[in-house]
Amino acid sequence: MKINQNYRNLRESYLFSEIARKVAAFAAKHPEREILKMGIGDVTLPLAPAVVAAMEEAAREQGDKETFRGYGPEQGYPFLREAIRDYYKTFGVFLDADEIFVSDGAKSDLGNILDVFDADNTVLIPDPVYPVYVDTNLMAGRKIVFAAANEQNGFLPMPDERVGADIIYICSPNNPTGAAYSVEQLRAWVEYANERGAVILYDAAYESFVSEEGLARSIYEVEGARECAVEFCSFSKTAGFTGTRCGYTVVPFALVREGASLHKMWLRRQTTKFNGVGYIVQRGAAAALSAEGRAQIGRNVSVYRANARKICEALDGTGIGYTGGKNSPYIWLKCPKDLDSFAFFDHLLERTGVVGTPGGGFGKNGEGYFRLTAFADGETVEKACKKLRELFGQSIERGRRCI
Ligand SMILES: *Cc1c(COP(=O)(O)O)cnc(C)c1O
Repeated sequence: MKINQNYRNLRESYLFSEIARKVAAFAAKHPEREILKMGIGDVTLPLAPAVVAAMEEAAREQGDKETFRGYGPEQGYPFLREAIRDYYKTFGVFLDADEIFVSDGAKSDLGNILDVFDADNTVLIPDPVYPVYVDTNLMAGRKIVFAAANEQNGFLPMPDERVGADIIYICSPNNPTGAAYSVEQLRAWVEYANERGAVILYDAAYESFVSEEGLARSIYEVEGARECAVEFCSFSKTAGFTGTRCGYTVVPFALVREGASLHKMWLRRQTTKFNGVGYIVQRGAAAALSAEGRAQIGRNVSVYRANARKICEALDGTGIGYTGGKNSPYIWLKCPKDLDSFAFFDHLLERTGVVGTPGGGFGKNGEGYFRLTAFADGETVEKACKKLRELFGQSIERGRRCI
């Protein structure tokens, strides 16, 4: 028996377990101190009432001989795929419901999609970014090159003709930097991919946070994207489904490589290795996209937006440079006094009880930066903002210093 040796190339511990360990150690040492958690990217508001009602109703259907359902279609029930198709229409993207595959979340699909690609492909991954892209490719032993996201490019790397990439990851709005591509900027990526015959894996998990005109909600807002891009999205951040589990992946019919339809390959993969998402959950997800559901989940997103605004305002008063917060629940700040991001994590926890995420955990270019999330209750955010003002307000020259 031989193990997959590629696992030896993975980093020992997952970033968030390391943070949890540090926070637990701090809490044990200082039981009197309040801990203000703005670290992990998990939602805090409950499911919308329309979602809960639909799931209750679906649970009753499953308990009745007349309406009970067993295995559903692997790609998702038509009622949900059609609801997702209609949702895309609201931002001007017209898909066929059959191009949409429902799953238990974007993370699984982002990992599983790699089944349809040969190990011998060069993968281009932004740095810093959601660690799942790097780890899933390391597990498969693929060659990875990084696209640096930094202050010079506004944390939005653009294609470089000298880099030969076959599989390109784009996360917009980005986790952790909060930077979001405009439709115009994505056009350059689509052109680059189509010229090279590459495939773009576009993660739109935070599309519902986009608030500024001209920024993309979907890569399919760009002409030619159906010929080169797969899009991943999720109800997790949009509708608070992190614990309920539902996402979707769009694989257009027009996406063909080496004479093979990637849509057909993905269908074959899913029907072989996946048996669909629970009926009850799919009813809940469809309810999130109903008129009533959308109004309710929209109010939740507004709460997170208001939190993000408060954090930005607090930072404005300290002179700490930051980006994000406008089209994303994440605020990406520059560690003051050139502190290393893990040292800043310890410093902030020690002095204020605020827990964030060290940028270094998201890639080499994340070093020297720090992520705060707006996924927290209003009271926690208020307290954290006050602490940030107290800690940095006096020590650093005042005035807004947006990166
Ligand atoms: C949270 C998140 C996801 C969503 O994952 P789920 O498995 O759907 O919960 C996907 N991509 C990014 C960048 C995320 O931050």
